[in-house]
Amino acid sequence: MRVDISQLFGHRGKSIPIDLSIDINDTEGYPDVVGFLEPVKIKGTLTNIDDIIVLDAEGDTLLNVSCSRCLAPVNVKLNFKLYEMFSKTGNIDEDIEAVTEDSIDLYPYVRNEVFENIPMKIVCKDDCKGLCPSCGKNLNEGNCDCDTSYINPKFDSLRALFNVDEEV
Ligand SMILES: [Zn+2]
Ligand SMILES: [Zn+2]
Repeated sequence: MRVDISQLFGHRGKSIPIDLSIDINDTEGYPDVVGFLEPVKIKGTLTNIDDIIVLDAEGDTLLNVSCSRCLAPVNVKLNFKLYEMFSKTGNIDEDIEAVTEDSIDLYPYVRNEVFENIPMKIVCKDDCKGLCPSCGKNLNEGNCDCDTSYINPKFDSLRALFNVDEEV
């Protein structure tokens, strides 16, 4: 998604509105993301501030992310800020992206920001029971036939503590 910025160069203080819909079509590196339910909408401005082109915008979108317990798709509404600086001149530091053309491809910046804003742990509901560790059945849909008498080793050590108490 390229945006023409030629009219900003050489015009300090000049600003142009940004109003875009961007389809994110690759989720590589983010296996929890099932897919996007709508394009990412970006609204804001590109402004020439002392010959640095500043993108100051807000984005929002709706996407599907796997529940971290049962893997069911969960709708996640995202709102995020998009702030980037671009320059053609020599004073490039690590926060300022170099641009060599009269247009900027905003796709990689939008994509980055979207994925960075997805919460780490998404659950479909607070009491999601998750998947059976042995057969993989979704326990929200009912119990499975697996042996549930298995005791977590953590509980064993707790029990040992209690036994010690009882003997005293
Ligand atoms: Zn779940
Ligand atoms: Zn099971």
